[in-house]
Amino acid sequence: MKTAQLSIFDTPSGVDYNLIKSTPIGLYCSVGDFFIDPKKSVKNALVSHAHSDHAVKNNKNIYCTAPTKDLMQFRNSTKNSLEQFYVMEYGKTFELQDVKITFYPAGHILGSAMILMEHDGVKYLYTGDFKLQADNSCEAIVFIGADVLITETTFANPRHVHPDADQEILKLNDLKDKNTIIGTYALGKAQRVTQLALKHCPEKIVMVHSAIIPLHHIYKKFNYDLGNWLPYSRDLFKTSTNCIYIVPPYIYNQYKDNSKYYSAFATGWDWFYKHNSIRLHISDHADWNDLQILVDKVAPKKILTVHGDGRHLQYHYSMLGIDVGILG
Ligand SMILES: [Zn+2]
Ligand SMILES: [Zn+2]
Repeated sequence: MKTAQLSIFDTPSGVDYNLIKSTPIGLYCSVGDFFIDPKKSVKNALVSHAHSDHAVKNNKNIYCTAPTKDLMQFRNSTKNSLEQFYVMEYGKTFELQDVKITFYPAGHILGSAMILMEHDGVKYLYTGDFKLQADNSCEAIVFIGADVLITETTFANPRHVHPDADQEILKLNDLKDKNTIIGTYALGKAQRVTQLALKHCPEKIVMVHSAIIPLHHIYKKFNYDLGNWLPYSRDLFKTSTNCIYIVPPYIYNQYKDNSKYYSAFATGWDWFYKHNSIRLHISDHADWNDLQILVDKVAPKKILTVHGDGRHLQYHYSMLGIDVGILG
């Protein structure tokens, strides 16, 4: 019998969408006994992609795509650990207990997946991190319909609209007579920026920091050839004024205030641009408009939000009659 107290999983029509629960370790499915992107190591983990906030070390059984496995083993240095990987192909359904699970491309970074879970005829789609913008350095997003959409909300605010990444990278051609240092996250953004710079800045020499190179190699292994980049060469860097040098954040911080170079950090966050020579607005997350396109395509009866601030989505979709619960 229903009580007057509604949980966040209840819909106005009275159907409970309670397959997935929020716990301090992350989203948990008791029917299938698995966590999704757990924050601490667990027995059974579905991992959407290899960024460190989604892919912690030392889960016992890990279900993920082949690139995510390679990227996790490299980043977590766990090649010889007791982790057991179960590599899943996009679009192929497998079962954990009574839950049918299918991974679909999320368009975020190489190997990133949205996770469709089906139980008792109800479909739940967890987006992980995702984007809609074109990106030749990873698989393009595939849209799947679901009853419950569990979406990330990193940029779920009407004031977040990402410009076209090709147009953003063209700005680097205007930076002349000095080398340019570009700060990026080492996984995903660095490969996207390498590929974009080589495509749109043919006059430039694109050099890559040694911490990023192994990740470039994993991309190549999975047939994402990023172009003719070079490992960093001190001699070439000193004698040229035409280099783009792609570095991880901790190296970028050493260069960013040095007036001998131009500097830019590739991100969707405004507060990063303050000390930069140019604003390089390139994001690997959905913006406000993309979130609405996703909701249109998935056509959910209920939305749950994670990773960010879901209040704008909640307000927007409550006006349209879709219930939105904020999970974190
Ligand atoms: Zn991510
Ligand atoms: Zn994330």
